Amino acid sequence: MGPLKVEEGVSWALAEHRAMTVSEVHYEYVIRVPRDPAAQVRGDVAIEFLWSDRAGEVVVIDFKDPSDRVIDIRANGLGVDWTARHDHVVLPAFAMRSGKRNRIEVEFVAGDEALNRNDDFLYTLFVPDRAHFSLPLFDQPNLKARFSLTLEVPEGWAALANGEATVVSGDEGSTIYQFAETAPISSYLFAFAVGEFRVEVAERAGRVLRMFHRETDTEKVARNRETIFDLHGRALDWLEDYTGIAYPFGKFDFALIPPFQYGGMEHPGAIFYREEGLMLEESATQAQQMGRASLIAHETAHMWFGDLVTMNWFDDVWTKEVFANFMASKIVQPSFPEVNHQLRFLLAHHDSAYGVDRSAGANPIRQPLENLNEAGTLYGPIIYQKAPIIMRQLERLVGQERFRDGLREYLHVFRYGNATWPELIEILDRQSNMDLAAWSAVWVEEPGRPVVAAHMATDESEHLDQLSVTQLDPDNKGRQWPQQLEILLAYDEEDIRFPLMLDGRTSFVDAVAGRPLPNFILPNATGLEYGRFQLDPRSLDYLIASLPSIPDPLTRGIGWVTLWDGVLNAEVPVSDWMELVLAGLITEELEQNTERILGYLETTYWRLLTDDTRRLLAPRIEELLWSGIASSGPQTLKAAYFRAWRSIVQTDDGVERMRRLWNREQAIKGVPLSVGDFTSLAAGLALREVDEAESILDEQVARIDNPDRLARFVFVRPALSRNPLVREQWFESLRDSINREREPWVLQGLTYLHHPLHAADSSRFVRPSLELLQEIQRTGDIFFPTAWLDATLGGHNSVEVAELVRQFLESLPPDYPARLQGKIHQSADMLFRSSAIVGRIES
Ligand SMILES: [Zn+2]
Repeated sequence: MGPLKVEEGVSWALAEHRAMTVSEVHYEYVIRVPRDPAAQVRGDVAIEFLWSDRAGEVVVIDFKDPSDRVIDIRANGLGVDWTARHDHVVLPAFAMRSGKRNRIEVEFVAGDEALNRNDDFLYTLFVPDRAHFSLPLFDQPNLKARFSLTLEVPEGWAALANGEATVVSGDEGSTIYQFAETAPISSYLFAFAVGEFRVEVAERAGRVLRMFHRETDTEKVARNRETIFDLHGRALDWLEDYTGIAYPFGKFDFALIPPFQYGGMEHPGAIFYREEGLMLEESATQAQQMGRASLIAHETAHMWFGDLVTMNWFDDVWTKEVFANFMASKIVQPSFPEVNHQLRFLLAHHDSAYGVDRSAGANPIRQPLENLNEAGTLYGPIIYQKAPIIMRQLERLVGQERFRDGLREYLHVFRYGNATWPELIEILDRQSNMDLAAWSAVWVEEPGRPVVAAHMATDESEHLDQLSVTQLDPDNKGRQWPQQLEILLAYDEEDIRFPLMLDGRTSFVDAVAGRPLPNFILPNATGLEYGRFQLDPRSLDYLIASLPSIPDPLTRGIGWVTLWDGVLNAEVPVSDWMELVLAGLITEELEQNTERILGYLETTYWRLLTDDTRRLLAPRIEELLWSGIASSGPQTLKAAYFRAWRSIVQTDDGVERMRRLWNREQAIKGVPLSVGDFTSLAAGLALREVDEAESILDEQVARIDNPDRLARFVFVRPALSRNPLVREQWFESLRDSINREREPWVLQGLTYLHHPLHAADSSRFVRPSLELLQEIQRTGDIFFPTAWLDATLGGHNSVEVAELVRQFLESLPPDYPARLQGKIHQSADMLFRSSAIVGRIES
């Protein structure tokens, strides 16, 4: 090991050095939060740890802008001559006691960067390396530590953190909370939230669960409360049973935070969620209800997968995400007995994973990481959607019970510690006859997907002679992806299925000789298979003509997903596809499929049609969707039709109906509209540039009484303006990172700004948005760069904007971060494809 270089951010070299020289870390924080969100948050910390470094290197503590923020430092009771280097406090070795416990005391001003300060509440969000943006500590996942915390907050404020709280009396005007010391946890999992919160308490299976929230609509709380607690209770029970390990972190609280950056964050004992994901509107769809259950199961699963056993470094962050999603899909099943779960898995994963893997920016599941300040770019659909598919395939290869036993061993061996992916594969390898390391090398370490196709050979009597399935590497690198397939041969009277291991370039299905030609063949008939399944011409023709009439709902779902892939690969003409979608809506009987078809309809309508075609089809589609509301049975399905209708409306009659609904002159039987629905209607009317748009928006402001929702609407409103200058000013305001702090608000505003109806005007914001991306990555949270790109590019389909993005990509300097460049390719992929499709139709 060479001499320690102290560079910006937490580098792998620094982390490695510290992991070898520092251990048994304990933090004792005292943090004082003032009522005024502009006043400084101050604190003290005592960091105790065992230190032994034969090389006698300096000790490095991570803390952003230390020269401005450190008030005083003492090492082992004495003043110390420390230096500030980048975002680190560097202490000389001579101030330390080798082979012994050391105690560093720091008095500091906390950085606001990761504190998410609002008028009457504050919450931390430290993943992946942002703890040191606010607090001094060793900010790396494999230096697990026990945290003690004392918070002094304004009187009347609630507080939660990882440990159990005790209230001790504060000075006049303040309340002091003391939190019990945590079990060993990683720095990114340390968390607290304070402020005006209401607290709901419930008990499930002898366990006390507490929900902190800011919802003022008591009916909404009452409607959601029991389900939210039930879902947590069931997830906890299920996980204890599956893992054989009792919930490892004592108490269980969670907080619903309106502007939270993403769906949820798994702080042990204190999960944070974005409020709208859990507090559903009365008009929620089935997909939203299942989404909530999955989110809760996902975060709860992290208590074991991620919190109890943590990746050694963020290059393996996917291991915690894959298990959270993998477990979630098992956990939610009993809560939705009416749902087809095999189909649900397919619909929840394949489309989004394919969305990245078909792009030029596709990334492997596991990616190297030199410095934690780039960890944010590792996240995306490959981790969240592709990895769970691969894990289900692995489970199928190893066998369910052995797979579970392997996971139990992994959790037990590495509990309260850290592990790498190869360490898990080694455990699972012992449970299996397959060479899992080789399997992992292509599925986990390589980007992309195989092109898989079935080939039929017929004899002279037009019967099957031979059936083979081949795989090709789309990049011609000779890679082969071993996977278990199920081949479906569909006939009018029956379906025949064959298992097939595709472990080389070509595999043959025996026992088909002499059978008549099937209507169609699917090589991905369980819905777990992964690849670009290129249908043979006969199967393609049959599905385009008759997909809605296939009796089995899972097979229909697979057909939809496979054809959509074909549309985007220009193998299925958009006009045929659109007719199929409309026909599918009329006959589809399963709500899950209907919701997906509605999603395809919206995307096709806004992105794959020319303006002329869209206007031509609008009356028919609006009518179909509107009548779908009335003819649907379940309220959730009515709501799904209503949402799709609201998104698509373009005719004068449709817009007028929208206005009457917003004005409460008309109601929809079976779809109770919430404040959120009225806000969406008002926004929709403004985007359609109705004459009285401004007064509608004014009136909508007056109708919103919840302060969080009001602040959000006021923030996004300029993006809805009819005046291009106001929209431009709003966009320009985003150059200041202060105005980007509430990320969900920014994303909603961008979606309005780049709505297809305004796309021609908003194309001028595309290049500046791309130019801001690196800064967005530096200042924003982990999902923000991708979400920023998606919201910016998601409304466009013109050749001009596609060209503009291509030019931007070509103009990038060689040192532009490769992964960020990949993200642009991923986000722009749909733009590239849709502009090519639309461009072909137009020319
Ligand atoms: Zn997660």
